[in-house]
Amino acid sequence: MEQVDSFARELNREYPGTGIFLGEPMRRHTTFRIGGTVSLYAQPKSLDAFVWAVRELRRRGTEFMVLGNGSNVLFSDEPHKLVVLGTERLDTVRVSLDSMICGAGVMLSRAASAALEAGLTGLEFAHGIPGTLGGGIFMNAGAYGGELKDTVEAVTFISPSGALRTVAGQECEFSYRHSRFQGSGEVILSATLRLRPGDPAAIRGRMEELGALRREKQPLNFPSAGSTFKRPREGYAAQLIDEAGLKGLTVGGAQVSEKHAGFIVNTGSATFADVTALMAQVRERVYQNSGVMLEPEVRIIEGP
Ligand SMILES: Cc1cc2nc3c(=O)[nH]c(=O)nc-3n(C[C@H](O)[C@H](O)[C@H](O)COP(=O)(O)OP(=O)(O)OC[C@H]3O[C@@H](n4cnc5c(N)ncnc54)[C@H](O)[C@@H]3O)c2cc1C
Repeated sequence: MEQVDSFARELNREYPGTGIFLGEPMRRHTTFRIGGTVSLYAQPKSLDAFVWAVRELRRRGTEFMVLGNGSNVLFSDEPHKLVVLGTERLDTVRVSLDSMICGAGVMLSRAASAALEAGLTGLEFAHGIPGTLGGGIFMNAGAYGGELKDTVEAVTFISPSGALRTVAGQECEFSYRHSRFQGSGEVILSATLRLRPGDPAAIRGRMEELGALRREKQPLNFPSAGSTFKRPREGYAAQLIDEAGLKGLTVGGAQVSEKHAGFIVNTGSATFADVTALMAQVRERVYQNSGVMLEPEVRIIEGP
């Protein structure tokens, strides 16, 4: 704890104006609205401050993780001995004739809107995904036939040794909800997205169409982390859960959504234990019913 305090003091001295929150509850920073405190939540106020913080934490051997919009994570409820670096201030967007360079903390909705304004097509699918570009690349987020891998031309990151590196999209090892960044210790700073000139009315129309589909199909009125499970090779997770008769199954404040069986929602007071117990029941019962073992898509962060 003393080590975290001294890191926080030094970060504040080097980069005054950095958001520094000791003992911050992660339920404030996740779309599930679940999660206990972390030792420190910091929002480095610039790219320089962010790079400094990552290098300094590594030098000190302090455990840390990077958080985007917290829309694909589930933190356990007990206090975590962990520093979390938020990317919200890595928020620059630069648009050129057929590409964009965006900071890792730029929300996908904002990147897609900037593309629309510039008359560029290719990001419409991402408009309704409630995450950042960094989290989206980490997950290779996708929807309605599009995936980030189709538009990411290059990614700049900090390597585990602290070096700044840029790799081409083809080197990101993208596959379904997977990228090289899972488990590599590389922290994404920014990315270049390759887009194409398009008709703004058609781009806007497609975004509106996909937004309406989301509102119709997804339980957006409840906190969640989107699809709880990955799509298995054998079909769709939501369909398998529905076929097992699990819509509405409830543990404490966690419920398999009545509207979309692929979502576990927080009906108001769900704990980490509620959600994980419900996930275990769903996996077990889907397996009994169909022989398919579902794999979680949401990333579980357990303390301390
Ligand atoms: C209502 C709802 C709908 C959703 N719909 C979709 C959908 O259609 N398609 C889809 O794919 N997903 C969907 N999701 C899930 C989620 O929005 C995506 O996975 C998104 O890409 C996560 O981005 P994030 O910024 O919130 O990442 P976070 O949840 O903050 O982080 C996810 C992981 O990425 C890591 N990470 C984040 N930023 C960085 C970085 N800069 N460098 C290195 N690692 C980083 C984190 O450490 C964490 O392990 C949905 C979620 C919700 C709540």
